[in-house]
Amino acid sequence: MPITPQPGIMQIALYKGGQSTLPGHPDVLKLSSNESPWGPSPEVGPALAQAAQTLNRYPSTDHAALRAAIAEVYGLDAERVICGVGSDEVLQFAAQCYAGPGDEVIYTEHGFAMYPIFANAVGAAPVKVAERERRVDVDAILAACTERTALVFVTNPGNPTGTTLPEAELVRLAEGLPERALLIVDGAYDEFAAERDVGLRLAERDNVLATRTFSKLFGLGGLRIGWGYGPAAVIEVLNRVRQPFNLSQVQLAAAEAAVRDQAFAREVQAETLVQRARLTEGLQALGIACDESEANFVLARFADEAEAGACDEALREVGIIVRRVTGYGFPEALRMTVGRPEEVDRLLSALSRFKGAA
Ligand code: PMP
Repeated sequence: MPITPQPGIMQIALYKGGQSTLPGHPDVLKLSSNESPWGPSPEVGPALAQAAQTLNRYPSTDHAALRAAIAEVYGLDAERVICGVGSDEVLQFAAQCYAGPGDEVIYTEHGFAMYPIFANAVGAAPVKVAERERRVDVDAILAACTERTALVFVTNPGNPTGTTLPEAELVRLAEGLPERALLIVDGAYDEFAAERDVGLRLAERDNVLATRTFSKLFGLGGLRIGWGYGPAAVIEVLNRVRQPFNLSQVQLAAAEAAVRDQAFAREVQAETLVQRARLTEGLQALGIACDESEANFVLARFADEAEAGACDEALREVGIIVRRVTGYGFPEALRMTVGRPEEVDRLLSALSRFKGAA
């Protein structure tokens, strides 16, 4: 008899990582993973060096110093903060604790690829709900809810759409959910939105968990740190499945230094918005459709899948990697991270050559 995993596991396709090198291109411009081109705060290096002095010791189990720093900066209750290996881990805790066989986990048409993976991993059924015009559709989600709905994942701002919902719409969603369902507001790109911290405010309710990350604005994607904020009862439950030493002291020290350097974070944020506007206008001037993004990337929509594929190829030929988003329901689009001014220039001139040659 072969040893078989629980059936949901076999529904999961192995994750294929994005490319970060191109043969023959020493000067690759990687604009495919929404990373910060500005890197982390200069305070992070010394904090890492300091943490490296005590590598023989296990790290903090309760993350008290990092949770206190987050709570101070965002005006939150530190007891209701939980930290994880990327916000991915916090999302995974939620699935582990609140969903299981027989349950349904709702996510939206263009939602993050990890949501159905987390659902399948715990034997729950992922339920994909249509969006409307590249925006989360609250009525469609509410209509899809059943007594089996355990979790609802919403990304705000969305990836790869870059669109947001007004706070009132998310409140309507939280209020309309079945009693046992937990709403997760994934705010990986929150810092780039016009209306910020919506998820954190919603997490004052009994049925909402907000997640945030150090991978984007804070430029620490390589270290894997994220956090969640929710009702005390939910956080207490999530902590039951969290490994006591899930974050290393190196991760904890870097994240604390990064979040405390709000001046640097604000600079990166402001510059990203300036470059995002330049990229958006540049794309539109070339006749490439894109919505006003509220994230650190732009979704460039081409005439069809063939044109998106040809453009992706043309960009690779000049050493630029962007992201095809066919798996997110956009075969005709490419997602492009907002880079530094000279990177935006390089991308726009390559796109201009592609459009000129077309
Ligand atoms: N949610 C969304 C919508 C994302 O795009 C990402 C990263 N691509 C994550 C969560 C996970 O981010 P991390 O685990 O690095 O915090």
